[in-house]
Amino acid sequence: MNAITSVTHQELQQRNDTSLLAWGLSKTTKTHWNTLPIRAIVDNNPKLTGTFFQNIPIISPAQLHQWPDPIVLWGGHLENILAKIESLGLANEILIHQELTKSPLFALSQHYLSPNNNLQQKMHLFKKMVRLVELEPHSYCNRTCWFCPNSYLDRRSNTKFMDESILQKLIHGLAEINYDQTISFTRYSEPFGNDVFYSTLKKIRSSLPQATLHANTNGDFLTDATLSKAYESGLNSLNIQLYLPQHQPFEYTYVQGLAEKTLKKTPSLKATLSQKTDDWIEFACTFKTMHIRMYARDFRKNGNPRGDIIPSPSLSNRSSPCFLPFSDLYIDHTGDAVPCCNIRSDDPKQRAYVLGNIQEYETIFDMYFSKNFLSWRERLWSFGPKTFPPCKSCHFASIDFSHYIDNHLKKKMVITKE
Ligand code: SF4
Ligand code: SF4
Repeated sequence: MNAITSVTHQELQQRNDTSLLAWGLSKTTKTHWNTLPIRAIVDNNPKLTGTFFQNIPIISPAQLHQWPDPIVLWGGHLENILAKIESLGLANEILIHQELTKSPLFALSQHYLSPNNNLQQKMHLFKKMVRLVELEPHSYCNRTCWFCPNSYLDRRSNTKFMDESILQKLIHGLAEINYDQTISFTRYSEPFGNDVFYSTLKKIRSSLPQATLHANTNGDFLTDATLSKAYESGLNSLNIQLYLPQHQPFEYTYVQGLAEKTLKKTPSLKATLSQKTDDWIEFACTFKTMHIRMYARDFRKNGNPRGDIIPSPSLSNRSSPCFLPFSDLYIDHTGDAVPCCNIRSDDPKQRAYVLGNIQEYETIFDMYFSKNFLSWRERLWSFGPKTFPPCKSCHFASIDFSHYIDNHLKKKMVITKE
């Protein structure tokens, strides 16, 4: 098995390596390539093999047998890259870049399964692990997309709002730990569909100056004025989704038409095509300093089952761990907290999967470490068949098996009697 070490950037620089390989022509590699002696970039995309980035050759994983240098892993998809390296039987030393790795894998410990943490410990552990808090300040969505449970659950006729006490408890808790990760306005509402979105953004931004405030939008309410208002209120990241009707083939010209419709309403938004595959078309956008993506995906190929309620292309018996109940927190407008983005509290079929309501707890940290959250995590941290719904048939956030990750998890997560 490869020698695998988790190292800080400083430690990496102090090793004085003269030649390192970086895995993936990712955003992280494009940003940080010149801080280390990167001599080649390994990438799975066959179209990139033989090309160059900043005069650095891009090689395929199969060519790695000719490159014995240590490989730096940074950015996302770490677990699947480790599985790939293991499957290729490579002997390269693996260096996992601690600061630039997004995986929760290396923050995991048995403390995330323990009911015995005091409040200070809970706050520390939450800060170390949680990368995403997702919420909906109101319930309204104007659409009933065919791949979304809103196709049969009414989110149009009676708009409900998140109670101010719920919002304040959330903001207060996150401010106490100076939360600097992402807060996403997503769930099952259209954020721009009600003005409470802007006032909520302002409240959160004034207490959490370092956090990334992100939203997903269907684009229907997007204009130069609404985009500017959201930006001035604190939004600094946005995904504009281009949704195709159910029976519309996934074609570039159709997607381009959807993009042009959005751009016509928001002339300040500038977009250039950045990705085009048979199931994903994306435009990189610029608007002031906001990070914006606009994309269409083929839900027939890459959709997810939404906790068993939407037909999915690849349902099977899950064996992979799922780290979402560790790294993310999802709160509906009612204050109900659920284990992942696929579950919603207003669907009677999923009601049993609600893990608690923020109003029942003194702090969000007490909820994150409540009995229901702990037992949901306990069933999902390891490799092995998942026999319980909805996880047993969910392929979302799966990772590939590797002995390294299996051993790592067993070492980190086996609970010693306290
Ligand atoms: S996918 Fe988004 S826009 Fe479509 S119905 Fe669901 S929440 Fe609304
Ligand atoms: S396995 Fe799927 S349904 Fe279960 S918590 Fe993870 S994402 Fe949600």
